[in-house]
This record gives sequence, C-alpha cells and structure tokens, in this order.
Amino acid sequence: MKQNFAIAVHGGAGTILKSSMTTALQQEYEKGLQDALEAGYAILEKGGSSLDAVEAAVVILEDCPLFNAGRGSVFNHIGGHEMDAAIMEGKNKAAGAVAGVKSIKNPVRLAKAVMQHSQHVMMAGNGAEDFAKTRHIEFADDAYFFNQNRYQQLQEALLEGVVQMDHTEKKFGTVGAVALDMDGNLAASTSTGGMTNKQFGRVGDSPIIGAGTYANNDTCAISCTGHGELFIRSVVAHDISCLMEYKGLSLQAASDVLVHDKLIKIGGEGGLIAIDKAGNIYLPFNSEGMYRGFKKSDGSGEIKIYKE
Ligand code: ASP
Repeated sequence: MKQNFAIAVHGGAGTILKSSMTTALQQEYEKGLQDALEAGYAILEKGGSSLDAVEAAVVILEDCPLFNAGRGSVFNHIGGHEMDAAIMEGKNKAAGAVAGVKSIKNPVRLAKAVMQHSQHVMMAGNGAEDFAKTRHIEFADDAYFFNQNRYQQLQEALLEGVVQMDHTEKKFGTVGAVALDMDGNLAASTSTGGMTNKQFGRVGDSPIIGAGTYANNDTCAISCTGHGELFIRSVVAHDISCLMEYKGLSLQAASDVLVHDKLIKIGGEGGLIAIDKAGNIYLPFNSEGMYRGFKKSDGSGEIKIYKE
C-alpha cells in the first residue's frame, strides 16, 4: 500500500558561529542542503526507493565543496584525503561501506557498489579502490579535491598539534541522508572526509554500520555527525534502534537518550538525523549547530543551521 514518504539530510554539526557566517555563505550552505533534499525527494515522489534517494542526496553534498565529504574533504596529517562512506537499507538490512579511500569522486556510490556487487559489507583503502575500477566508479585527481581553505585548516591544525573536526571552529563535517519511501522502506547513508589532521589510516564512525549509519524497517534510519571516536564507542545509531525495538521508545525519546545523555557523559559532541517507519523526523544535536533539513510528502519541510 502506498504511504507517505520523506527525506532528511545533514551537512555536519559543531560550533557553527553566526559571527563568522556571512549572509552569502549561509545561502550557499542552504542551497547545498536544498539541492540535496530536492534530488532525493524527486526520486521518492516518483515511487523510487529510499536507497536511491539517500544516494542521490549524498552525491549532491559530496560534490559541493562546502561540505566535508567527497570534493570538500579535509586533509589528513600527511596532506592527503581519506574518505569514509556507508549506505544501508532497512528492508533487508543490506549494507555497504568503504573506509580510507582516496581519489573516489563519490564514495557513497562505491559503498553502494560494495553492498550490491560484492560479497562483503566493508572494504578499505587500496582494495576498495581496485574494486571501484571493476565497477566503473568515477575517480578524480588531486586537483579536484584541493581546496585552499581546507589546506589552511591543516596548516593551522599542524601548528596547534591538534586533530580537528573540519576547521578551527571545531565544526564537524560530514554529510548524510535518511529517507522513507512509498513502499515503507527506510534507508540511511553517511559520507565524510573525517577530521583535519587525522592520523593516516584513522577511520571514523560514518562507515561503521551501527555507529554512524544504520537502517531497520522495524524501527528507524539514522545518519550521524560528530566526534567519530565517541560515536563508535556509543554505537549510536544501532543503540537508538534497539531502544525503539526492545524498550518501545519513540524515535525522539530514543535519540535524546543518545544525543543528550549517553554522548554528553563521555564528551561526544555532534548530532544526527533520524526517521522512523511512520515518517516522523527528528534532527537532534548537542553542539552549537548542525546543517540540516527535511522534506515530507505532507508538504512540511525546513532547512536550519543553528539552534531554535
Ligand atoms: N563523524 C565524522 C568522523 O569522525 C566527522 C564528522 O561527522 O564531522 O569521521
């Protein structure tokens, strides 16, 4: 039976200061989020799958240099890019993920190929890149990924000797999408460049099924953004699903337990986007802000950056 459908996206969470945001820049961020929502929504509206919708939304965000994923990925300690991505569908809990990949234009597409065309769930580094060639996944050269602002962020982080989320304001950066389609299927996807000045080989929560990304038709679909190490240790996305499945909590109540209690207790800054099987959407964060938005078939929608 046909039912309502919806999509939500995020472009990272953290200390996003109004004082360092110009109107023009804010509009660019909002346009990026809007374009991603529209790309996913167009697929859902035609009866397409939530899997294809989250992929399409994440591709738009990966292609936008403002967000820390794909083209806009931050630099690691040795001045390179290593990207992580995951995608999961709730109807059969199929999942695909890639970690520490270089030169892949859209890591989400590679994660989907791992899910659909390999016998594995997660592939990393050179092996994942070799697999990408067999699936005709698009590569891009270093110039495509070079961004002067990001390079400057690495120089500052190197001087300070710290590992930073995206840039000096400690804004996290990662992109993600969750969706419910007309057939009642949920899906989630997350893609990131990780953290500026991260150690070569470091992998965050985004590609780890159950930590940064999870989807289950019986409960919810979740995509996280924040300090990855803390999100891994809290197994955030799966924990929310479990609180709903085993304790009967609502999407909002379950998400609040993680974002406003468990993560806070261990210093885990960030947020997430969540959707349940009824199409309810919840976008909580415990940081200053989170680039976020949603669009539902009932006509409602919003795009926001700061707290209310
Ligand atoms: N969670 C990502 C990571 O730790 C970063 C982020 O969301 O900003 O790799």
